[in-house]
Amino acid sequence: MVSRPGRVLVLGGTGEARRLAEALVAEGVEVTSSLAGRVADPVLPAGEVRIGGFGGAEGLAAWLAAHPVAAVVDATHPFAATMTASAAVAAEVAGVPLLRLQRPGWTAQPGDDWRWVDSLEDAAAAVAGFDRVFLTTGRRGLAAFAGLAAHCIVRSVDPPEPPLPARTTVVLERGPFSLDDERALLREHAVQVVVTKDSGGHMTEAKLVAARELGVPVVLVRRPPLPPGVPTVATVDEALAWLRGQPG
Ligand code: NAP
Repeated sequence: MVSRPGRVLVLGGTGEARRLAEALVAEGVEVTSSLAGRVADPVLPAGEVRIGGFGGAEGLAAWLAAHPVAAVVDATHPFAATMTASAAVAAEVAGVPLLRLQRPGWTAQPGDDWRWVDSLEDAAAAVAGFDRVFLTTGRRGLAAFAGLAAHCIVRSVDPPEPPLPARTTVVLERGPFSLDDERALLREHAVQVVVTKDSGGHMTEAKLVAARELGVPVVLVRRPPLPPGVPTVATVDEALAWLRGQPG
């Protein structure tokens, strides 16, 4: 598939990264998936897995120099901006081809009441007038909401750490979430506003449909920009095609 010698390094932590690793392994390509180690019990991808940070762009460049890597696919989450920036710098330094695999963001449908903001801090300001807030932004970054007086329902895979809003109900769950589940959750907690990052994808999309049906507004945090000059694709199939097309 790739004509430079070596394996494919997939920077992971997403469903796309797992599907890419699975497809590469199925095609007989050697693959190493890298996970940050944030989730206590991660769903492990096929092939070799390494866990933990590299030590910034410099650390990743050194890792690439020390390992036979033919190409890197940065399939991290759209909001993993530090890793994405490090990958761009390190791949250039090490002279290894890099592809960004990032699913498209969500698009509003008729009936949606979406309010776009640029940061978690702006999201906290946008929900200041509501009494019952559903926070689906993940357990990191909750400090931005710590000053809220509203009752906050926080959903995350692992328990969140303080600082948290004073009145917080934690719902420990890992997606995907069904529309029935999301509808039930919004109703059970009498949610008045949902806060989410524009993660995109189907795994966590049902909350947006449930919010639309129930007339609940949604505050969406815009994605950080992509590093310039890095080829970007939206699907696993496109990533596989890019890997097949790499020159020697
Ligand atoms: P981040 O802020 O961009 O990364 C912070 C640091 O974590 C990086 O500098 C790097 O440490 C390490 N890191 C991140 N992703 C890594 C990977 N795949 N392999 C090895 N080290 C990694 O990232 P984040 O937002 O904390 O996300 C961490 C992981 O969770 C990512 O793999 C991401 O795909 C996944 N995830 C993130 C979100 C989200 O909303 N941010 C949601 C779902 C899943 P060094 O500098 O030491 O290399």
